[in-house]
Amino acid sequence: MLSTNLSVGENGHLYFRGHDTVALAQTYGTPLYLMDEVCIRDNMRMYLRAFREHFGPNSSPLYASKACAFKAIYEIARDEGMGIDVVSSGEIYTAMQAAFPLERAYFHSNNKTDWDIAFAMDNGVGYFVVDNREELDAIARIATEKGIRQKILLRLTPGIDPHTYEAVATGKVDSKFGTAIETGQAREMVRYTLGLRAIDLRGFHCHVGSQVFGEDVYERTADIMLGFIKACRDEFGAALPELDLGGGYGVRYVERDGTVDIPAAIGRVAAHMKAACAKLAMEMPQIHMEPGRSIVADAGLTLYTVGTVKKITGYKNYVSIDGGMTDNPRYALYGSAYTVYLASRPQSPATLLCDVVGRCCESGDIIQPAVRLPEPVRGEILAVCTTGAYNYSMASNYNRLPRPAVVMLTEGGHRLVVRRESLEDLVRNDL
Ligand SMILES: *Cc1c(COP(=O)(O)O)cnc(C)c1O
Repeated sequence: MLSTNLSVGENGHLYFRGHDTVALAQTYGTPLYLMDEVCIRDNMRMYLRAFREHFGPNSSPLYASKACAFKAIYEIARDEGMGIDVVSSGEIYTAMQAAFPLERAYFHSNNKTDWDIAFAMDNGVGYFVVDNREELDAIARIATEKGIRQKILLRLTPGIDPHTYEAVATGKVDSKFGTAIETGQAREMVRYTLGLRAIDLRGFHCHVGSQVFGEDVYERTADIMLGFIKACRDEFGAALPELDLGGGYGVRYVERDGTVDIPAAIGRVAAHMKAACAKLAMEMPQIHMEPGRSIVADAGLTLYTVGTVKKITGYKNYVSIDGGMTDNPRYALYGSAYTVYLASRPQSPATLLCDVVGRCCESGDIIQPAVRLPEPVRGEILAVCTTGAYNYSMASNYNRLPRPAVVMLTEGGHRLVVRRESLEDLVRNDL
């Protein structure tokens, strides 16, 4: 099986964290998101432990909540002692509903409105990660009005192409995110920021991309960032104690994907950075990273009911499910790979080559093309694995499809954490 929380039960059904997925589909209906709480907590603890061990007590991992955000996730992050990165007032508000201590929140986004800025300040968000000069001016103006001094990190683009998928590569100089080091604009921003009395510049942030595996992406990024910190400390005499290296460790979606030993990778980054700091004769900054996918992806699995099985003789076969790009747009957006099992008989011979497609009115509404499955019949349950990241959080109501429910699984039980949208929910805001 693809991950350790998947197994086959004595009845031949697919089990997830020890629960019969077919039975869960019967209990809660489909489409249904399952989230494995044990796995989420294990992943968070793995990061917390690795940070303590390799970067010391003042460094901390921040959960990138855009990967999957609802109250129960923020409650888990709160309990585990994780920080969070948030990108909107909606995420901030959701974290507040979970009583998440917002001094541990870092507010991203490349375009925060004045309203967002005021909302975040009024609710005590600890840090703003500032993307550009206009935003910096707005934050300084609003902080002055409120009589506070706001801690910030400046988001910089170190100019790294992580050799991952183009659309999720954000560390390059021409990215829409951040301010470029290479062009001299970052240095100018630092000089300018240090002159703003309402702003406490704590350091820098960068995020080079996602699905990073064993490569030395973080080491190369850290070299550039440390060099820049050193230059700014020398030139401006600023302390700049914090460095946030962003998110991005990869996860395994299909058997052919590699795996990352994340604690070992963090150990290598830390050792590399300590050596680099020694060479530069500078103090090691406090380090943050912002894992999203690698915390929640393998904690998720989506269940669907099979509808039409269409065989176009001599061409191809389609297996249609009762969800689609509305609950998982990632194949449509990025061509992402997924592993699909027939939940009722995962071990039957996989005799049918088919595209697993959704029910939306788009030819591109594909969950996964060219999948080999035991030939399903209408009414059987299909499981799509590793859907914990960027599925629920990217879900939409296209074609007026209600968003699925989310069920949290524990070792001994399961509970509904997000109610399924009803038809009434769909017209709630219609006047
Ligand atoms: C998307 C994003 C992350 C999380 O990336 P993952 O690949 O999910 O780990 C972290 N930080 C920033 C700024 C991001 O945009």
